[in-house]
Amino acid sequence: MTKAEIITIGDEILYGQTLDTNSHWISGVLDEINIRVYQKTTIGDDADQILGAFREAEDRADLIIITGGLGPTKDDLTKPLLAKYFNVRLRMNEEALSEIASIFKSIGRELTEINRKQAEIPENCEKITNRLGTAPGMWFDVRGKVFISMPGVPFEMKAMMEEILIPKIAERFGKGVIYHKMIKTIGIGESNLAELIVSWENDLPENIKLAYLPSLGQVKLRLTAFGNNTGDLEKQTDHLIDDLVPLIDRYVYGYDDEEIEGVVGKMLTKSGSTISTAESCTGGFLASMITSVPGSSKYFKGSVISYSNEIKTAQLDVSEEDLNIHGAVSEPVVKKMAESVRVKMGTDVGLAVSGIAGPDGGTPEKPVGTVWLAYADSKKTIARKVNFTKNRELNIQFSALTALNLFRLNFSSN
Ligand code: AMP
Ligand code: MG
Repeated sequence: MTKAEIITIGDEILYGQTLDTNSHWISGVLDEINIRVYQKTTIGDDADQILGAFREAEDRADLIIITGGLGPTKDDLTKPLLAKYFNVRLRMNEEALSEIASIFKSIGRELTEINRKQAEIPENCEKITNRLGTAPGMWFDVRGKVFISMPGVPFEMKAMMEEILIPKIAERFGKGVIYHKMIKTIGIGESNLAELIVSWENDLPENIKLAYLPSLGQVKLRLTAFGNNTGDLEKQTDHLIDDLVPLIDRYVYGYDDEEIEGVVGKMLTKSGSTISTAESCTGGFLASMITSVPGSSKYFKGSVISYSNEIKTAQLDVSEEDLNIHGAVSEPVVKKMAESVRVKMGTDVGLAVSGIAGPDGGTPEKPVGTVWLAYADSKKTIARKVNFTKNRELNIQFSALTALNLFRLNFSSN
């Protein structure tokens, strides 16, 4: 297996001014092409340390990816040090120069001598075009090892990786073609999901890898297929997904970039239905998720943030009796909230949330994280109780997500 190492360069990372998001992102994309990162090193803008890091990385790894230190200023040392390390000279790269010139032309500025110098690169490397900035990337294939140097600016680095380097790395290290498909699930934990699909997973062919990617309330299943032809890989994974989905039908809500709020939006749009929300512990977060989808004005009418009992009573007709006997976090209250908001806003569906987000307000019967959710349409009202975590922020996000899932599972347009 190809061994990779990442070196991030810059005093600002060491001093806590810049978070090293580059190595995190690079690790992720390398993993997708089956290249394992064995070490990450962060060093300052110091010549001896940088040369030392190159030397050590070359001993350990096949692929060394470097970001940072490519700016035009004196503190940026990476380029001259790469030339020194490989014992070569810097030479003007005419193509890089014309690329830099056209960037300057597009922003209406004169090319300075310092900028011209950015087009000088070590004579033993291949220039990697930086479409979004003036520091070209560099690819060195020396002594059987590949060194890649890129600017530290994250969006410049990502564009170079995605558009040029990932395919180039995959080809250089003999990986052929790679195809990804993400299956998104909600409402089931990683280990339960694994149990449901164990025999399917055991029968996966050699060239297909499965990864479980859990996040708050969700687990993404990522299939990575390796082969020689994208079309074949797509067909192969589609067949596998056809076998997989019936096993976990209830939990699968979408594929690839789809999000639950977008899926809910599609269901509403398709049937021409509308929705409103009544929110207590989520304080509008559910409405915010729903309205983050472009075009949500077609189906979302509004929300009542009934945080206090007075507002639950005054705006949503929740009875004082129910509040006294059952409490604000209870089945009758959350059902009434969903039913009332639906009627008052004249929507087809009402969704409601009432819970104890924490950190205070818990009792032995209703600990922090106890949340009641309800779905109401013209035919039925369905409530569900869930117990989440001790963390306020997570409880809020989790509650909104679960409310959207409650909709997904219960909505029918007729
Ligand atoms: P440089 O190529 O050293 O001129 O980097 C330019 C800018 O990129 C720095 O000022 C940082 O804001 C940013 N940067 C550098 N390294 C990283 C990193 N590892 N992760 C995220 N941002 C970075
Ligand atoms: Mg720097």
